[in-house]
Parts: sequence; C-alpha cells; structure tokens
Amino acid sequence: MINKLNDMEIFRPMLAIFLLLSIRCPMVLADELPNIVVIFADDLGYGDLGFTGSKEILTPNIDALANNGVIFKNGYVSHPYCGPSRAGLLTGRHQARFGMEVNAAHSPDDPYMGLPLEEKTFASRLQPLGYKTAVIGKWHVGSHPKFHPNNRGFDYFYGFLPGGHNYFPESIRVSSDPYDAPMVRNGKPAQLQEYLTTALSRDAAKFVTETKGPFMLYLAYNAPHQPLEATKKDLAKYTHIKDKNRRIYAAMIDSMDQGVGRVVEALKQSNKFDNTLIFFLSDNGGVYPEYWMPNSMWASNFPFRRGKVSLTEGGVHVPFIAHWPQGFGKAGEIDGLVSSLDIAATALGVAGADTSDANLDGVDLTPYVTREKSGSPHAALFWRLEEADHIWAVRTPQYKYLHQTLPGVGKSFFDMQADPYEANNLYGQEPELQAQLATLWNQWNSHNKQNVLLQAEPYKKQRAKFYEDWYQQLLQKAQEHKPYVVE
Ligand code: CA
Repeated sequence: MINKLNDMEIFRPMLAIFLLLSIRCPMVLADELPNIVVIFADDLGYGDLGFTGSKEILTPNIDALANNGVIFKNGYVSHPYCGPSRAGLLTGRHQARFGMEVNAAHSPDDPYMGLPLEEKTFASRLQPLGYKTAVIGKWHVGSHPKFHPNNRGFDYFYGFLPGGHNYFPESIRVSSDPYDAPMVRNGKPAQLQEYLTTALSRDAAKFVTETKGPFMLYLAYNAPHQPLEATKKDLAKYTHIKDKNRRIYAAMIDSMDQGVGRVVEALKQSNKFDNTLIFFLSDNGGVYPEYWMPNSMWASNFPFRRGKVSLTEGGVHVPFIAHWPQGFGKAGEIDGLVSSLDIAATALGVAGADTSDANLDGVDLTPYVTREKSGSPHAALFWRLEEADHIWAVRTPQYKYLHQTLPGVGKSFFDMQADPYEANNLYGQEPELQAQLATLWNQWNSHNKQNVLLQAEPYKKQRAKFYEDWYQQLLQKAQEHKPYVVE
C-alpha cells in the first residue's frame, strides 16, 4: 500500500506535466509530423460562405471546417489581388520586401517575370524535413521554367501557370490567351477531361490518399474567379438566384465546396484527417463594380466595403480558418490581427523548421490558437499597392489609416473597434493617432523595394514596342545592305 501510494505520488506530478504539455504543446501527442493543406480560393466574396453569413450559397464542407476548427475573425491577405497575394503567402514575407506588387505577366520566355529566385517558398523549407510538397491549381508567380513550381520547392505540380484558366475542356482553344494555356503536370502537358474545379479536387484527393509520410498540399483553386462557368448540375441548385452572373458564381463556389469535401473525405479514409492542419482562405475579396470593371457585381463582401483591388475591408479582409483536430481542436474564434503571411510561419513552426535565416513577416499562430499566448499576433498589418500611385494602408487592432483614390475613400481613418465596417471616416479628427500610424507605415516601408514587374497590359505594350523596334532595326540593316555580287 505504501509502495502504491509512493508510486501514485511520483506518477501524479508526471501525469500533470504530461497533461499540461499535451494541452500547451499539441505536438507531444503527435507521433508524426502533421500534414499541411492550404486551400486558397480566388476572388471569393467575404459574405459568400455559410459560416460568414450567406443564406444563398451552400458551403457545408467549408462551414464544417470552420465550426470545428478556428475562425480568424480579423484575417487578412497582404494584397487585394491575385499574384502579389500569392507571393506573400508562398514566402511568408510581405511581397513589398522584394518588389512584387503587381500580377506578373504570363511570359514563358522571360526569366525575370516572376517570384524573385532569391526568395524561398515555405515548401522549399519543408522539403528537407521530409515533407512531400504539392501545388495543385493556379500558380501565377512566374511562367518561365526558372519559376515553375517544381523549381520552387514543390515535388508535384498539376495545374496552370497563368493567372486564370477556362473551366471546361471544350472552352479551351489553341490561342495566345493565357486562359487557354495547357494544363501542366510536373513540367509536361497534362490532360483536362472534366470541369476544372472537379479535376483539381480529384487530383488533390488522390495526392493526399497516396502520399506516404508528411505532406504539404497547396490547393489553389481558381474558383470562383472569372470566367463565370459552372456545370449544369451545380447551377440547378441555384435557380432561386435571379441574377445570371451571381447564379453561376454561386454554383462555382458550390463546386469548390464539394472539392473541399472530397479532400476531407480522402483524408478521413486514409486516417490522416486528425493530424492534418488545413487552412482555408481567399486570395483577396470578391469582385466589386469599380470604374475599371463596372459590370463586376456578382460577389458579396458583406458586411465589408468595396472588394477586390481595394484596401478597404472588402478587398483584404477575407474568410480565414484553420482546422487540425489533433493540434488545435475546436478552438473557436480568434479576434487578433492575422495575416496570410502567418501560414508559412505556422506551417514551418509545426514542422519544427529552423526559420532563423528566413526573415519571415508572418507569425506562428499555434500558441495563439492553443491560448498559450493572448492578444493580437500582430501589432500592425501593412499594405502597399503600386507605391507610385500612393495606395497604402496600416491597421492596428484599434485603428486603420489608408489612402486610395476611390469614390468615398481617399484618405481615411477608422476606429475599427467602434466602426469595423468603415462607415465613419475620422480623417483629420485624430491628428496624433494618424501621425502614429503614419510613422508605423513609414518605418515598415523603409525596408521595402520598389516594384520591378509589369502587369499584363503594359507588358504587352512594351513587348510590342520591343518587336517593332527590333523589326525596324533589321529593316534598316536590310536596306543598307549592299547586294552580294557573284563573280
Ligand atoms: Ca484573386
């Protein structure tokens, strides 16, 4: 009896330490490194998911991840449109650090048009730890072979290199339109035999089922980005939506949600679901009828203002969740400021990577989700959009200060606690607070690089000029040429 008591007395503190460690550090319970899946939607409106309030669009699979995982209520992307947002996500560094603030033009011949080669993706930091890495879907950070996913840290690639793609095999033509670009699987042309979102989901499910050992899958849907194309089967669920464009867009989101369900089911069937950390978010807000795209009005960013390309909340405040039964559990909501840049830092953190040389701008979110740490993961978040146009924003947990030349925006200052939907512009009323936020932004920006890339349209013009100049030079040379005389 005495011995038994002694055993128990020794055992109790050990048990307590073990339980404490189990709660504080979920990795203690994990026999294996967690799998990581990052699901990135494209141009998804904030209000267009069930868990963010949509009554029109059905997203039961994404909602289940949100409701059983963690919802980042103040989750942001680092840029209000595609390419730069992806560059930030993939590196965990703000893309203004390396001058990539516009969509890289699709130019397979140009070895400079893409995510700078000195920047490392977090996939490439996971590979040495034994992770099998994959990107399935849209790449959009460089089309020259030097920038291809297989050369940027991904063992496996199935998808397309440009910023978008047609959805149906029969709508793809032989043309120079990037949306007609061939699908690629590991550097070789790949087939597309069904609706694109279904094909990507099928490939993702296969990858998670078949991969042995830990993996990181970056599933970059182009849904619900244009072109607005949906299957008859999915459209049939949305006959209650009168507006045709919105009806198609809703069906595209539905298909993506079914794809998420397919991946979740594959994880469950292969007994990997409990130890897989899944992130889901959008690369930017849904489209909004700004003056340069006045007919783009099918998305809802409710309750936020404006949408894609804007630094008001509708452009950068996105649906953002994580789900990891074994590590995070049903963790509820996190109110602090969270960034898409945090995904790399969190993934590398749970994998135990050394990030001391990585200069990450993101934060490992794990201790915030497990409540080991409280407060906001970031003291401030920053945006810079084509600096030459003076489009910038800074947000602290309390305030937001921004400038963008859009109707009703201009210079704006908001108390985000009292006014989270940016209805009451306090610009000029709080000069000291404005100056403090301006100082934060200036300090941050002093370490950034000017953008060095061109968007598709100016790039096309430059390239046309290059060909024209070259042709004129050759023409002149030809005219000056003395005819060869045969003897
Ligand atoms: Ca996008």
